[in-house]
Amino acid sequence: MLAVLQIDTILREVDTPALVVDLGALGRNIEKMAAIARRSGVSLRPHAKTHKSVEIARLQIGAGALGIACATVGEVEMLTAAGIPNLLLTAPVVDPAKFARLAALNRTSPLTIALDHVEQVRAAAEAIALDQPPLSIVVDTDVGQARTGVTSVAEGVALARAIASHPQLRFAGIQGFAGNAQHIPEPLARSAAAEKAAAMLRDFAAALAEVNLRPTIVTGGGTGTHVQDSVGPYTELQVGSYIFMDADYARIVDETGAGLPFEPSLFVMATVVSVNRANEVTVDAGTKALATNGPPPCKILGVAGRAAYRFAGDEHGILTFPDGVRQPALGQRVLLGASHCDPTINLHAFYHVVEEAEMQIWPIAARYGWR
Ligand code: PLP
Ligand code: MN
Repeated sequence: MLAVLQIDTILREVDTPALVVDLGALGRNIEKMAAIARRSGVSLRPHAKTHKSVEIARLQIGAGALGIACATVGEVEMLTAAGIPNLLLTAPVVDPAKFARLAALNRTSPLTIALDHVEQVRAAAEAIALDQPPLSIVVDTDVGQARTGVTSVAEGVALARAIASHPQLRFAGIQGFAGNAQHIPEPLARSAAAEKAAAMLRDFAAALAEVNLRPTIVTGGGTGTHVQDSVGPYTELQVGSYIFMDADYARIVDETGAGLPFEPSLFVMATVVSVNRANEVTVDAGTKALATNGPPPCKILGVAGRAAYRFAGDEHGILTFPDGVRQPALGQRVLLGASHCDPTINLHAFYHVVEEAEMQIWPIAARYGWR
């Protein structure tokens, strides 16, 4: 494992806890998903919520992605400033100040946003002057997650018509993200949830075609269901977590019992700070360094034998070891495979990106509070 070799060399001067990326593994994950999409004839618009990083977005575009999906206006601003094309804001907004920021960005770099209510459509149209380029809108659809989106085809068709009635707006298509399906470990239950989402989007697209509003874009999909999603009706997949993998996605299996074909590439480096108890040591990475909304880190590098991590407060975690296993010494560093990756990266300011003897610092520029 590449990053382990670097703990005592190029990562030696790095303060802990620190976010570490294995660039080789990251690059292989990006290539692998790009190849899957190419083979299936579906486009990729990978999600920046997972990384909030210009550098990683560039790698994804370099591997053939048509654009990048964003969860916040801050992510859209960061990537527009970096010249990344074809951005899609997947989370509906309502605040006129946010629409004003989006309208300004759309003037220089055409942008697509997802909305789910007629009042948002009105606010979006008000933000665009008639002599400016129109803003493209997709109708967000609740395909099972019960978070955002129109909840019926009839509601969705009415919203599409409202969008099409504004000259400042362009009806571009539909979105449905089955967040409820992504982390179901059992393959059959996961496929059933993915199929339910796909069926709703197919029905919605057919109803739109009947009123001459055929969707150009059908966007959605995630890492857990990327195999099912790549057969349609999606024109593009918004996969996010595949680049890093995490403890949540480590539990997913397919019908043959195999896990997802991606490698863990995101780690939190921690230092052993207390060793006074039998069969366990304390490290300096707790809930301020690793997200807690999912399983704790399960892949631990730099220790002998199988260790288990558990949270022990804001600044601490505990590694336990079976009898007879040599425990790491006081001051030793370990690499904890990330718990839920998207909220974990938002806790940090920088990635320490390692490849062989090189380390680069990449900012997590769109994390909350910065943009
Ligand atoms: N699209 C939307 C709207 C999301 O909220 C997410 C993640 O939560 C994704 C795509 C990416 O999903 P995943 O990280 O499972 O690939
Ligand atoms: Mn997530």
